[in-house]
Amino acid sequence: MRERLKTYFGYDTFRPYQQEIIDTVLKGEDVLVLLPTGGGKSLCYQLPALIREGITLVISPLIALMKDQVDALNANGIPASYLNSSLSAQEIQTVQQQALSGKLKLLYLAPERLGILGFDSFLLQLNVRLIAIDEAHCVSEWGHDFRPDYRRLVQLRTLFPTVNMIALTATATTRVRQDIVRYLQMPQPRVFLSSFNRPNLFYSVQPKQQAFQQLVTLLSRHKNESVIIYCFSRQDTEDLVSDLYTQGFRALAYHAGLEKQQRTRAQEAFIRDEVHIIVATIAFGMGIDKPDVRLIVHMDLPKTIEGYYQETGRAGRDGLSSECVLFYTYADKRKQDYFIAQIQDELEQAQAQKKLSDMIGYCESTGCRRQYVLRYFGEEWKESFCGTCDVCQAPSVELQDATVLSQKILSGVLRTGERFGAGYVCDVLRGSARDRVVENKHDRLSVYGIAKDVSRQEVMLSIDLLLRYGYLEKQLGEYPTLRVSGEGKKALTHREPILLPKIETGSVLKRAKKEKETDYDFELFTKLRQLRKQIADQQGVPPFVVFGDRSLQEMSRAYPQDTTAFSTIFGVGDTKLKQYGELFVSHIVEYVQEKGMSVTAPKKEVILLKKERIGSTIQKTKELIEKKYTLEQIANARGFVCSTIVQHIEQLVQMGAELDIEYLKPAPERIEKIKEAFVHTNSSALSPVKEFLGEEYSYDEIRLGRLFL
Ligand code: ADP
Ligand code: ZN
Repeated sequence: MRERLKTYFGYDTFRPYQQEIIDTVLKGEDVLVLLPTGGGKSLCYQLPALIREGITLVISPLIALMKDQVDALNANGIPASYLNSSLSAQEIQTVQQQALSGKLKLLYLAPERLGILGFDSFLLQLNVRLIAIDEAHCVSEWGHDFRPDYRRLVQLRTLFPTVNMIALTATATTRVRQDIVRYLQMPQPRVFLSSFNRPNLFYSVQPKQQAFQQLVTLLSRHKNESVIIYCFSRQDTEDLVSDLYTQGFRALAYHAGLEKQQRTRAQEAFIRDEVHIIVATIAFGMGIDKPDVRLIVHMDLPKTIEGYYQETGRAGRDGLSSECVLFYTYADKRKQDYFIAQIQDELEQAQAQKKLSDMIGYCESTGCRRQYVLRYFGEEWKESFCGTCDVCQAPSVELQDATVLSQKILSGVLRTGERFGAGYVCDVLRGSARDRVVENKHDRLSVYGIAKDVSRQEVMLSIDLLLRYGYLEKQLGEYPTLRVSGEGKKALTHREPILLPKIETGSVLKRAKKEKETDYDFELFTKLRQLRKQIADQQGVPPFVVFGDRSLQEMSRAYPQDTTAFSTIFGVGDTKLKQYGELFVSHIVEYVQEKGMSVTAPKKEVILLKKERIGSTIQKTKELIEKKYTLEQIANARGFVCSTIVQHIEQLVQMGAELDIEYLKPAPERIEKIKEAFVHTNSSALSPVKEFLGEEYSYDEIRLGRLFL
């Protein structure tokens, strides 16, 4: 199987679950696969199709995608074709002939084919050995994309009672799962359910001030990469497109108000890398299977976490790092409220409200964003620190003593009766003469005006930080109000010092401005990308069908200068090697000669560059490690939790810093246990290992162990 994985697809290893799923399919069992987008579901039926004799039927609802999928298979030398309403009668004839002659390994079908007279008897003449139902949630009214035609699929059971079925979806709710099993009549399927975490996505929420400026900064950082920007209304998308033009960004709008033809054109241009930015209402995305979308921006508050997860899920299908940014202001809630108010059914309305407030909870969460989302979906996600969301990255800022202002704020919240929002508390503290303050007689309180000398912005930001650090709590409702938490009360009565990050105005933009670091030769990558585009245009396929970004990046790291070296690159199977090997190799050779470089030189340069960029905060951790401080000592000295320090160590090691950390190594017998656990769980993820090892091992120790292993 490994061999075929490389020869046909050019991959060296399976993604989690793939191998087990394929084994089970080949054993002839019915299988239900629930993997997140980008999890590699297609391979779970494509590889068995190659191994088994006969033909595999693949049911897929998205006509627009079928062609791309079939093109991608053909590019890997796998005989496949499709039948749907986009083909002429003549073309359908041809494909049916091909199928009957036994030449095809996979035949993609739109579900409505099954309603066509005589189609059954065509199918019965084929040597069908496996049936794959892609996007299986379409069978359920509880999913987000119910398609009545999917209910026809049970016919396939009657037609092929002995052929096993594999159903796949990225929707994991129990209800949908039950519907799939029921409507597809899978009496006892083997179910593979993986975590819905998307480790390569970076999540952040940014305050929606100067959102356009922030967007421009983001786009500059993702230049020439594919980006989807979601807006609330059709008008917003059009406006944003023209605003972007003034800044030199070419973008296309996409929404349900456009002619079908215009929409198809926008979609095509995006898939073929002719335009990099799509500004869309949520109508966009269903027909998009572009593996290299690097940035998803939400200019407005999404309605539900489900929707947000799905929309952001379109980023980074190829597994490379990608970013999801949401611009948030509480004021956006009104726009959604308006629509919720239109809902007639009371129950539905209440549900919509609940979903919206869960979404707001995400934006205002003081904990890890990833954890919030995964828990929302009912996953038992224990890691509270992912390291790749804005909240988890935030603690790396320096803490400073903020006791005085914090005490004023906490008292202000208490004295006004814990019934008001941040803006109001701020008004009282700064001695505002607003009517409401006077009416409530809050101008007579001892806390009135005690923060006169502090700017409004600073008070508001401090309130935000007190929320984040758990001294304050927010009660959501139509008007969110502040409350002092147990922690906050304790700090007040015991006069404990309160440490908060230094407030720097404009700090939100920091990450956005940071230059992009790459560990591959960006110039060569850009050249190869052009070559890829040329080839794709000649062959009339999307560029990613030729090679994905990850393949081009590996080429730009390894500089393969002959076809043998080229064949070891990710994504290079036999067919692609034959077809493109020499062409790409000759471009790389030319580039290397032009630059007059020895092949390993640029790699080092990159590492050096990174070394110089070690942030000052990590640098400090490094200094303490050199002094042989323990983890706890470093954490205490720096005002961080231990896991942040472990993260620093991981980063230092990754950067190739010279560092003696032997003294931090867990005891040999513990390392041994940790190793066993990683081998047992067969992945580098922490949670399964933690679960396996139990309470006796902390996440920090496991992470350290992983580092040494
Ligand atoms: P899904 O249908 O689950 O969203 P896909 O089947 O489209 O995911 O796969 C997502 C991406 O991952 C594709 O670009 C695919 O080629 C790639 N992929 C699948 N399996 C592997 C693997 N074992 N190794 C590397 N890449 C893989
Ligand atoms: Zn996180």
